[in-house]
Amino acid sequence: MLYSHSFLDMRNFLFLWICIACSTSLWSQDFCATQLNEDNVSSYIAYTNYLKSFPAREGQQTSYLVPVSIHSIGSSSEDYLSFYEMVNILCEVNDDFSTTGIQFFLSQEPLYHLNSQLSIIEPDNYLNALSSLTATYNISNTLNIYFTEIKNNTDGTVLCGAAPFPSWEDLFLNGRGGIIMNTNCKSAAGKTLTHELGHHFNLLHTFETSTGRELVTRQSGMANCEYAGDGFCDTPADTKNYSCPYANSGEKDPLGIIYEPDWSNFMSYYGSNCLSHFSTEQSAHMMAVLENDPKRNIYLQFPNIYSLPEATEILSPSAGSTMPVNEILAKWTPATEATWYSVVLKKLSGAILYSGITQETELVIQLANAFSNQQVLLEVSPINERYFCSNNVVNQRFSLGAPTSVYQDFIDGVSFKFVPNPVSNGKSVVARFNAGFYGNAQVEVVDLYGNILSSKPIYILKGENNLDIDTQSLTAGIYLVNLITEKGNVARKLVIE
Ligand SMILES: [Zn+2]
Repeated sequence: MLYSHSFLDMRNFLFLWICIACSTSLWSQDFCATQLNEDNVSSYIAYTNYLKSFPAREGQQTSYLVPVSIHSIGSSSEDYLSFYEMVNILCEVNDDFSTTGIQFFLSQEPLYHLNSQLSIIEPDNYLNALSSLTATYNISNTLNIYFTEIKNNTDGTVLCGAAPFPSWEDLFLNGRGGIIMNTNCKSAAGKTLTHELGHHFNLLHTFETSTGRELVTRQSGMANCEYAGDGFCDTPADTKNYSCPYANSGEKDPLGIIYEPDWSNFMSYYGSNCLSHFSTEQSAHMMAVLENDPKRNIYLQFPNIYSLPEATEILSPSAGSTMPVNEILAKWTPATEATWYSVVLKKLSGAILYSGITQETELVIQLANAFSNQQVLLEVSPINERYFCSNNVVNQRFSLGAPTSVYQDFIDGVSFKFVPNPVSNGKSVVARFNAGFYGNAQVEVVDLYGNILSSKPIYILKGENNLDIDTQSLTAGIYLVNLITEKGNVARKLVIE
């Protein structure tokens, strides 16, 4: 986003006031609430000194895999971030971390939680909200990331994410860890999460001042970079600045030397389009935290044996064929090692018409009639928990024709599933299915003896449906959930643990 200078200046002016008035600072366009203040800087420094007592690593020969559990919170399933969006964010993060020796993988399919209290967060209440989220939903031995809506600040600025340092977790979160992300920050989500992961592995902002104002000089006897600022000497002294590209305003350090910051460092506040790397010392520090911090090295215990999925072959549509725009049957062969398939339908210009992720090997895509009479490209990529970034993509070019004259109403039994399944007793579970029509339906929960335990009317949407199933009254066991519609019925087993 571009702003006139006067507007930008005014916003920075507002920021100064925010920083004086409260302990957190917020990235104007894009961001982050994680900042030290005089109350907690001493615990951060003590902890960091403890970490520095471990031998420094030479390079990043070792590669570590960190399991992440991605949660999406909503007051209805329409608020949820899609699996496809989550995967794309995590791909960008892995790309950003490619030189650090740390990579992230999915511990499981994303978790969706219906929670009206925690689906819209006040920006100044993010630590309390994160505390509640981690208490309710954390998956142990994994790095938990929560996507929810964070309201704009009263001055219109947006908080896109926040991540407590390891030393903050005992102070504010009863020892639990996690990252909170704003669902509304779609385009900046990848770079925001990369930045927050830096905090999660104990990195400070490059412009940090609560540890002392870092001097520009690296001259022996004068330099203070080992402890002031972010504590690293290979990140130049920085001043909090939001311009991308960096516009040098001639701002000076305490010795009167003009700042020459690294405006591409992930831990700075330059706009997300400018951010591209961690420094060598930052990477080594994150590695030291991952290996030595008892709150972080638990991630290394999580099993992570995955192989690259084999390629698949598209069976439908066939090359050069024409499909009705309102009923595009996409079908492909199963690929070994694939947990899911990422499916994208694009215009030849690259514009995406449909995107989704499924466990099945077929899918019916419905587009509006306006999209007929053009050539398109179907892409299918077999993915799994570790390999989810466009590996082995196959594609098929075909045409979209006129809609079928008799509109085919259907309820897609193949797509009907529960996330998660099994589910812990009392936790929320989402029933997901595709339907080809709008209409009234009934959801029945039946026990193994055929007793109907509950029956609830619902309204079905055309396309993907995410329906929240109440498990509060269900004890551990196996249940059958029937979806009864005017176009047919489907049933699926649900396991409560
Ligand atoms: Zn930050």
